[in-house]
Amino acid sequence: MIYLPSRIFFGANALQNAEAYLIRLGTKPLIVTGKNSAKLSGALDELIPVLKKNNADCAIFDRVQENPSWDTVREGAKFLKDSQCDYLIAIGGGSPLDAAKAMALITANNLIEEDKITPDKFSHTFPLAAIPTTAGTGSEVTQYSVLTDASTGIKAGLGTDLAFPKLAICDPRYTLSLNNTITLYTAIDALSHLLEGIFSNKRQPLLYPLIQAGIDAIMKNLEIALNSPSNIQARTNLMQAALYGGITIAQTGTTLQHSLGYPLTTHFGIPHGLSNGIVLKQVIELYYPYLKPELNNLFLSLNITRKDFEEWLEKFPLKVELELSDEFIESQIPIVLASHNMANNPLTVTAEDIRKIYKNLK
Ligand code: NAP
Ligand code: FE
Repeated sequence: MIYLPSRIFFGANALQNAEAYLIRLGTKPLIVTGKNSAKLSGALDELIPVLKKNNADCAIFDRVQENPSWDTVREGAKFLKDSQCDYLIAIGGGSPLDAAKAMALITANNLIEEDKITPDKFSHTFPLAAIPTTAGTGSEVTQYSVLTDASTGIKAGLGTDLAFPKLAICDPRYTLSLNNTITLYTAIDALSHLLEGIFSNKRQPLLYPLIQAGIDAIMKNLEIALNSPSNIQARTNLMQAALYGGITIAQTGTTLQHSLGYPLTTHFGIPHGLSNGIVLKQVIELYYPYLKPELNNLFLSLNITRKDFEEWLEKFPLKVELELSDEFIESQIPIVLASHNMANNPLTVTAEDIRKIYKNLK
């Protein structure tokens, strides 16, 4: 089964083509974004005239930080409630997109002051249009909002079909302003999602052509985008791959790979894509005996071997100096084991598997 309720616009005219649908989402949008991305990407400058042309007043909440916290979501939700806005337009990487999804849900369901927020408490939400400015998370077409609880230091995904954006407005020009570090890390996040579409025990052969095309696009275009950041064709191919990754994980979920990465982000500030990248080779190693036909077919379809793939990955600066103490590792094992994504692994992952991967990062 595939469920994909977001209307997707892709390419240089995405906003123009989406205009009629965007305007019909409500009367006054709240634009949700980070400090700079909406402006740097050029998306805000293109959106404002569209809203003006349609006589739509708007409000802006631009305080979403990377790896957004529940505190920020609550602050944004209060802002949304006071603003009289009736729909949201999120502009940015996965962080503003995810924050906007949760802000909409908790405001619509009067849960702003609620401590324990679970998807069963949501019955409706505000419509959301997502305008990605990174080519990574695919959040523009997923039902997930990944948030950090500052009090526990736990980062976790919240998933509900209500959170799917109504519109995904994907214009690769908005990624031209990304620096090389963010270009690399977000592409590795997209690559992880595509691979996790195969790793996951919810894998669906119907998605394999998208997964293959997405991985192929990243392998062929990432270096081009890093060497020539203004190459719009390479940016387009990377954004398409990220979109395919989002479509994929919306169906299959993510796996151990993401569960291992979350603590590295919350405790050491390692960016999301990099946290996936540093564990990727070891995760493939662990999964391979359980997924030989699937992974061999994938590599065959890409006309490469597993070794070629690993050598390609080695070309990129995806290493960090990490001294994980035994105490830290032991404290995180139960958290990793309890994360939702662990239900999707192709084998029963043990505490020892997790311990081994973390120890090897030293
Ligand atoms: P991000 O945290 O949204 O942004 C990273 C940095 O890139 C920020 O400093 C941001 O600036 C900047 N930036 C974004 N677009 C830019 C542009 N066009 N030009 C210049 N700078 C730009 O990064 P992300 O990797 O896209 O998102 C990561 C988050 O998404 C994590 O919390 C991760 O867990 C989550 N995620 C969600 C899903 C899902 O399905 N929902 C899937 C995977 C990951 P500003 O601070 O100004 O915005
Ligand atoms: Fe991710």
